[in-house]
Formats: sequence, structure tokens, C-alpha cells
Amino acid sequence: AGSLTVEELAGKLNKTTSELIKKLMGLGVMATKNEDLDKTSIELIADDYGVTVEEEEVVDPLDIERYEEEDDPAKLEERAPVVTIMGHVDHGKTTLLDGIRKTKVTDTEAGGITQHIGAYQVEEGGKKVTFLDTPGHAAFTTMRARGAQATDITILVVAADDGVMPQTVEALNHAKAAEVPIIVAVNKTDKENANPDRVMQELTQYELVPEAWGGDTIFVNVSAVKGEGIDELLEMILLVAEVEELKANPAKRALGTVVEAELDKGRGPVATLLVQGGTMNVGDPIVVGHTYGRIRAMMNDVGRRVKTAGPSTPVEITGLNGVPQAGDQFLVFADEKKAKQIGEGRAVRAKEAQRRQTSRVSLDDLYNQI
Ligand code: GDP
Ligand code: MG
Repeated sequence: AGSLTVEELAGKLNKTTSELIKKLMGLGVMATKNEDLDKTSIELIADDYGVTVEEEEVVDPLDIERYEEEDDPAKLEERAPVVTIMGHVDHGKTTLLDGIRKTKVTDTEAGGITQHIGAYQVEEGGKKVTFLDTPGHAAFTTMRARGAQATDITILVVAADDGVMPQTVEALNHAKAAEVPIIVAVNKTDKENANPDRVMQELTQYELVPEAWGGDTIFVNVSAVKGEGIDELLEMILLVAEVEELKANPAKRALGTVVEAELDKGRGPVATLLVQGGTMNVGDPIVVGHTYGRIRAMMNDVGRRVKTAGPSTPVEITGLNGVPQAGDQFLVFADEKKAKQIGEGRAVRAKEAQRRQTSRVSLDDLYNQI
């Protein structure tokens, strides 16, 4: 807030940009037309022209929280935990995700398992668990960098025959920074040279101490290829979820995060969204990152068409005017005009920000060449 580019300030003062740039030089400020001016420089200039500066209330179209509905505590209901799987390359993240899906997703009528929407839900003892099918740290860090907190629990996969590796440490540091509880899945326990005790020993260094040794980290031995330990892992996830008291209000306009998105030749922009609050309906006007639209169709994780999606549910939607990015947030609006206005405003803002970034980068390049 409180900043203007040289060009914007020139417009407000009814002066040309080049005149303003000269004026700034005179004041010892070297600036290009897209440069953001700080409050002091703006005041200096304005003073020089004999005008006073009044700060406008900045309505930031990027701030969707402004439009979000407050939660009535009485309306909060238990929701499924959202789980991501992290760990060193080749330690078995993909195999574990597939193994859980295979053993637990029973609804295969709609072609089920072959469908892939970037996230899925399973049931254990009548309770649901949502898995984000985005192994690797990239998705997690991009989401975090965009301020999205979509994960409730992280499963840290460590191969019992390989032990703690650099990306294991990286992953646990990400989870710790995000204050997301960690469950350690010691994988490949079927292998002859598996040494689960060594994994425990090594992780102690990173304050992940098993309960058996007086700590509070849950370790589960699994074999992703054999499907062993998956039930226990799910039980432990539900145990942690219970402690976390995960809740959401299903009775409001939906909001949440983009898991993945792409341009489909036939269907246009397609996005997998994770609903984090509220309930989403077909026909809802929606703003997703810098795109907007009206939800034309929704498909769940087993490829079935659905009309509604509540908290912690992943769902694939069509009907957007562009392709959003993983980690973008979305919000449903009561009226389509508003959604359009805010969506367009956000797109303009994003373009401006990008242009400024580009002009700054090229200036840096120039300096580097000198
Ligand atoms: P990612 O890079 O963490 O996603 O690892 P992958 O799931 O691709 O697995 C890497 C390799 O380890 C593959 O060849 C898997 O078949 C193998 N693998 C994964 N889990 C197990 C397991 O529980 N036991 C054994 N023996 N091999 C496994
Ligand atoms: Mg993988």
C-alpha cells in the first residue's frame, strides 16, 4: 500500500512521465517509468508541485480474504485430514500413493482407478482421508510460497535400506517450517537389507523421536509394493487428525486451493481444486487465482460427475476463462458480475506486477553488463 509507479504518479499530477523522471533526477532519485516510488519520494514530488498527498484506501483485488465469509463457530464440523507424501527420490512416494489408492479406493465402477485428478480420498473405519497426489517438494513449496496451506499432515517416506538422505532432511524441514505434523513411513521393509532401526536412529538427530524412545513422533513400518502397513498408516493419520481437531464450515460459499490445472483440448481449462471450506456447487460463480468463470461441471476423484463438494474434497472443475496455477486460491461468489469484476481486476494486477518485474529484471541485466 501507499506506492505508485512514476507513470502512475505523473498521471495523477497531470504531468508527462519524462518531466517527472527529470524532476526526480533533480531530487537525486534515479527512476524508470515503471519504478515503484516510496512514500517519501511521492511527498517530495507533490510538495515540489505544491500539492498535498492524501492516501487513498487501497482496494486490493488480490485479497480474496476480504470477500470471505466469517465462520460461525457453531457451524464448524469435523472434516477429513489432507495428507501429502514427501521424502527422498526413489524412497517410494509414488508407490505408496498408488498402493493406498489401490487397496482403499473401492469405487471402480466409473473407470475409477484409471482416472487421475491430482488428489484422492480413501476411507478407513468410516472416516475419510484426502491425499494430495503431488509428491515431490515442488508442489508443496509453490503452495507455501503462495501462502496456501493445504496440508494437514505430512507422511515422510524413508526407505529402510537407504536411510535419511538430503531430500529427507529438506522435506522434514519444510514440514516443520509449515508446522505440519509429520508421520514417518519407514518403507521397503520387505527388503533383505532393510534396517528400520537405523532410520529411527538417524531421525532422532532431527527431533523426530519415536514414541518407543520417549518421543512423540509416530513411525510406521510399511512395504508400499506389498501393501503392508497401509491400514496402520491410515489409522495413525486418523489419530493425528483427531488430535488436530480439523474442522470447517460446510455451510458457506466454497474456498480453497488449486492442486493442479491444465488446458484440455476438448474441455478447455481444467482445474483440480481442494475445497477447504464451504460447499461448492455446479453453477457457482468462482474466482480462481487470476481466472474466473462459472462452474460448468465437477468430477470427483473416481471420475464421477458430482453436483456438490464439501470441505477436504478434491474435485475437478471446468468452466474457467483461463488456466490457474497450482497453489492459487479460489473463492466462490454469490453473483457472477462480482466474480467477473474481481477476476478481471486480479488478472490486470498480475500483468502489471509481471511487467514491473520484467522491467526491473532487464534493468538489472543492464547493470550486470556494465
Ligand atoms: P519415489 O521417487 O519416491 O516416488 O519412488 P518410487 O515410488 O518411484 O519408487 C522407487 C523404486 O522403489 C521403484 O522401483 C519401486 O518399485 C521401489 N519401491 C517402492 N516401494 C518399495 C517397497 O516397499 N519395497 C521394495 N522392495 N521396493 C519398493
Ligand atoms: Mg515419484
